[in-house]
Amino acid sequence: MCMVSDASAIDPTDLEAVAAALHRFHPGLEVIATAHHDWNADEYSQGGWMMHRPGHYFKGAVSIRKPHGRVCFAGSDIAALSPGYIEGAMSSGMEAAVNVTKLLSHKQTRNNIL
Ligand SMILES: Cc1cc2nc3c(=O)[nH]c(=O)nc-3n(C[C@H](O)[C@H](O)[C@H](O)COP(=O)(O)OP(=O)(O)OC[C@H]3O[C@@H](n4cnc5c(N)ncnc54)[C@H](O)[C@@H]3O)c2cc1C
Repeated sequence: MCMVSDASAIDPTDLEAVAAALHRFHPGLEVIATAHHDWNADEYSQGGWMMHRPGHYFKGAVSIRKPHGRVCFAGSDIAALSPGYIEGAMSSGMEAAVNVTKLLSHKQTRNNIL
């Protein structure tokens, strides 16, 4: 299975073009058929997963994972574990839930004191 970030870069029905592209990675590979799905044109998906720019995982995602005031972000695209997968969505959701719980308990404590 192959994924491309630019669907216009190759005609997936063109057996020779697909074979030529795959031969760059695996010379001599025999391609006997192709099948493809355009996730961008899929009415339910409306796109594929996020394609990260270099540095996103070590800069952007790290920054977005931290609570910003009372706002906590969650999602697979910023997950520390398994980003881009369901597992990442769940781990990020749990991390955000822990952060929200801390913020709420802090607020509770502060209100009790005041
Ligand atoms: C084609 C495709 C195939 C995939 N295959 C796999 C796979 O085999 N295995 C795997 O582990 N992962 C796979 N993934 C990745 C996986 O689906 C995602 O990582 C996961 O669903 C992300 O979960 P999430 O909760 O972070 O975001 P999402 O599931 O995208 O949830 C975000 C939600 O927010 C809603 N939303 C957006 N904007 C707003 C707004 N302004 N107001 C209110 N709601 C809003 C959206 O409608 C959506 O319901 C695939 C993804 C795609 C696109």
